[in-house]
Amino acid sequence: MSSAVLCAPVTDSAPATSAPAAGAVPLLPVVGADTLVPLVAGGTARYVDLDTAASSRALESVAARVAEALPLYASVHRGAGYLSQVSTALYEDARATVAGFVGARADDVCVLVRHTTDALNLLAGCVPDGGAVLVLDCEHHADLLPWQQRGPVTVLPTAPTVVETLRALGAELVAARYALVAVTGASNVTGEALPLDEVVQLAHAAGARVLVDGAQLVPHRRFSLAASGADYVAFSGHKTHAPFGSGALVGRRDWLDAAPAYLAGGGAVQEVTVEETSWAAAPHRHEGGSPNVLGAVALAAACEALAALPAGALADHERALRERLVAGLGALPGVRVLRIWADSAEPTGVVSFTVAGADPGLVAAYLSAEHGIGVRDGRFCAHPLLARLGVPAGALRASVGVGCTLDDVDRLLTALDAFLSAGPQVAYARVEGRWQPADDPRAAELAAAVRGAGCGPAER
Ligand code: PMP
Repeated sequence: MSSAVLCAPVTDSAPATSAPAAGAVPLLPVVGADTLVPLVAGGTARYVDLDTAASSRALESVAARVAEALPLYASVHRGAGYLSQVSTALYEDARATVAGFVGARADDVCVLVRHTTDALNLLAGCVPDGGAVLVLDCEHHADLLPWQQRGPVTVLPTAPTVVETLRALGAELVAARYALVAVTGASNVTGEALPLDEVVQLAHAAGARVLVDGAQLVPHRRFSLAASGADYVAFSGHKTHAPFGSGALVGRRDWLDAAPAYLAGGGAVQEVTVEETSWAAAPHRHEGGSPNVLGAVALAAACEALAALPAGALADHERALRERLVAGLGALPGVRVLRIWADSAEPTGVVSFTVAGADPGLVAAYLSAEHGIGVRDGRFCAHPLLARLGVPAGALRASVGVGCTLDDVDRLLTALDAFLSAGPQVAYARVEGRWQPADDPRAAELAAAVRGAGCGPAER
């Protein structure tokens, strides 16, 4: 697909060429795209997954790669058996693929971890003693709490514009000495980010390194450590269409080699006596215990699939979906789309919004029960940001990815329109803090799904 076609404005009429308009069809096939879910009033609907920012479905290519690797699975790094050697090679090849996907430099290290939270806690233990960390108050808790726990950390208030925020960041970096600036690559609330090259420039000029929380960036945009100059990036497999328990921290070797082992145990050492231990260098130093081979294989397969997309295709796909979503939400009375900055450019496909007079939890329960649509509600593990945006009680979030289509977005907009004009069609109550239909006949189906009966495939 040429990017000219992908950039074509989205219209209701079919384009002249045979290539579908951006967003019209999934960019890559995901497992379970046709899954039917029960509705509270009876019947079923194709599940619309607009919660990809929380976790994204496995790509079909990822599931296929895992199925191929399963018969080869054996112990890693230790066994002499043939399949142990194969599994070790699979694991180390996966590491190289993941490192390459984020543009690692030749001397960078790729530590395979569980997820972004794990990666950031690991890095928090590697910042040299006494080195201060600077973050903004728009970060996900995963990029805030590890630094708070470690200290010292400065949390800079986000200004209303990118320009003012960069100015404040620059001034702070001149006023005090920092070892690390930890910034989001894309907000999990609004999809926005500061221009990374400018952050890197400011930080490096002041002698600080830059960590990019890539949880919401890496699965959605081409990212390169080498090209951006950033020093570290962290991201999660389950947000990158590889929900098999793997993630990565990639970046400069020296801090990782000098730090105490993150997970002390087998595999992280060179030599152990009862008195003392000589630790392995990174990445093994931080990967004590048996590695998650299948998680690594899955993550590498997802990286390969995303890397193989034509340049710009993913951004064009998500832009088309985001534009339709934001325009549609803007046309609904009482709906407010949240923005951190008035002048930010090219947000990813994460859109948070409020509905005047409606509890976000109730709206989310209604979308699920009456329309089979999955969105997120609450404060998105970003309490300081939600407070700054004036919505301390929370909001709704719709997020799109490679498996989503314009039809999915339209399903949400139609359902919200019906909520605003006619209200919910059944009664809802709060149970243990969560809204749900007061009388929910779907409980039996849910129990069956948990037992493994699954949800039926959609009729075509
Ligand atoms: N950072 C951001 C921006 C996120 O969106 C998330 C997950 N919502 C995380 C970090 C933490 O990711 P994980 O739960 O996979 O550790």
